[in-house]
Amino acid sequence: MKRLKLIAGNWKMHFNRAQAVELVNGIRYGLRFPGEVEVVVAPPLTALSTVAEVLKDSYISVAAQNIHFEEKGAFTGEVSASMIKDAGADYVIIGHSERRQYFGETDQTVNKKLKAAFAQGLIPLFCVGETLSQRENGLLSQIITSQIEEGMRGLSPNEAKDMVIAYEPVWAIGTGKVASSGQIAEVHLFIRQTLIRNWGQEVGESIRLLYGGSVKADNAREILHLPNVDGALVGGASLKAQDFIEIIKNSSNSTG
Ligand code: PEP
Repeated sequence: MKRLKLIAGNWKMHFNRAQAVELVNGIRYGLRFPGEVEVVVAPPLTALSTVAEVLKDSYISVAAQNIHFEEKGAFTGEVSASMIKDAGADYVIIGHSERRQYFGETDQTVNKKLKAAFAQGLIPLFCVGETLSQRENGLLSQIITSQIEEGMRGLSPNEAKDMVIAYEPVWAIGTGKVASSGQIAEVHLFIRQTLIRNWGQEVGESIRLLYGGSVKADNAREILHLPNVDGALVGGASLKAQDFIEIIKNSSNSTG
């Protein structure tokens, strides 16, 4: 099955509105024809609607970095999926390891957020991945299986097939340590098999699997052409237009 490649930039807690606009303009005017690849940027919340407005009619889509699972109510400081949609996003990152690590997200809250996202027509970029100690203790497949099965519990097949899953080994995020090609291919195959086992061949094969963890211009080509790697979720290297453009170009043979 042919899956359209997707390159997403997670800006985390960087940039005010002016800096955000400068970066997206740097990307879209620096790379006018991205080729057969979908491009997404995830600005901080304060810049989201400004960036979405600037990118209207461009090839770049916008993601939020988080949502709350409730639709509205007394949840001071939180923002719902419908508010994010209203601000101009089409995607939302859910279950990023930094949110699991620092903000107490669990497979159960992630599951509620995935459902809330789909209910509002947002496509989730759903993050899974093991810590170094989990890997070293032989828990890799158990952790990935439960993150996927608990996270996606109760979704409809139609929702599941639109899902984008990012495999991000926690030990490779922001550390400069990239998983080896063998490690990436092995886990992506395992995720694909897990999805097919749970959701059947058609749904399991239509879900796009991104790799994330210290992806840079110089390692992107190799990673992005591994089997079952349908794109990348990029942190640090998405903060500079030229670096991000190089990664986009490396994802496809037809960019220019
Ligand atoms: C991320 O935070 O999703 C990420 C992959 O970060 P980095 O590329 O900086 O490792």
